[in-house]
Amino acid sequence: MPHTLLLAEPRGFCAGVVRAIDVLDAVLDREPAPVYAFHEIVHNRHVVDGFRARGAVFVDSLDEVPEGSRIVFSAHGVSPEVVAEAHRRRLRVIDATCPLVTKVHLETRKAAKDGYDILLVGHRGHDEVVGTLGEAPERTTIIDTPGEVVELARRERPVFVVTQTTLSLEDTAQVIDAIRSDYPEAQIRNDICYATTNRQLAVRTIAERSDLVLVVGSSNSSNSVRLREVAASTGTPAYRVDGIEEIDPTWYEGVGVVGLTAGASVPDELLDPIIEDLRARGVTRVEPVVVAEETVVFQPPVDDAQGSSS
Ligand code: SF4
Repeated sequence: MPHTLLLAEPRGFCAGVVRAIDVLDAVLDREPAPVYAFHEIVHNRHVVDGFRARGAVFVDSLDEVPEGSRIVFSAHGVSPEVVAEAHRRRLRVIDATCPLVTKVHLETRKAAKDGYDILLVGHRGHDEVVGTLGEAPERTTIIDTPGEVVELARRERPVFVVTQTTLSLEDTAQVIDAIRSDYPEAQIRNDICYATTNRQLAVRTIAERSDLVLVVGSSNSSNSVRLREVAASTGTPAYRVDGIEEIDPTWYEGVGVVGLTAGASVPDELLDPIIEDLRARGVTRVEPVVVAEETVVFQPPVDDAQGSSS
């Protein structure tokens, strides 16, 4: 049975998620329900359910939002079309898009203006990719795998590459290599963010020393799903769970060292019962494995309705 627990550091909340959660938290504190949020504020079931209980209503279409209502845009960002529609409906917007996602939007918009064809490396249908694609839909092609680069019809214009922020470092390197091989002159921006990078490095480090890795995070959280894949790529069995209720105790059979981490949208308190349970099962050594110190903090966004910070 387990005797040692390796805790990946960093793990859990990143600066963009903290900012988005703080925004919705503050709005719910000071304004009457319902407060609308476009898409899940962050991709974590516990966080979203907690806000829902306080009167937040998460929508996937602005048609569901009465004119003049308060709305918060999620950390994943929205397309310019959604921004325009929000203005048409006189919604009072606070945009909690992570500044690192906004940076990708700006790169995409500028590249289109400068005459490039854009290859957006990312997962089709993910909220962030949908938003970025909306900056220049007629010029942008989503690329998910190296094979899609091979199948791509020859681009007429010079090529500019941007990426989703929460991709696998290794898979993205392969896609970018494939693009570079077909388009040696391509301008390439690898936009995988610091939080994704650090969490993947940390989970790889603990996975190499563990018999089992647990990743806490929701199934729609891209960075959490990637963390499990990175851990499993070392050959160590790895499971993603939303919380302790999804852990099958038989996973611990024959396991001495357990590695534990959490995606960027996961509150650390979800790990506490797992750690306590492991102690009860015989873990006597809990070792933080630190691969990076994070000091990133983002300023709160402007409230469009008031022209002031939220
Ligand atoms: S994972 Fe990265 S891009 Fe996404 S919210 Fe966090 S810091 Fe921003």
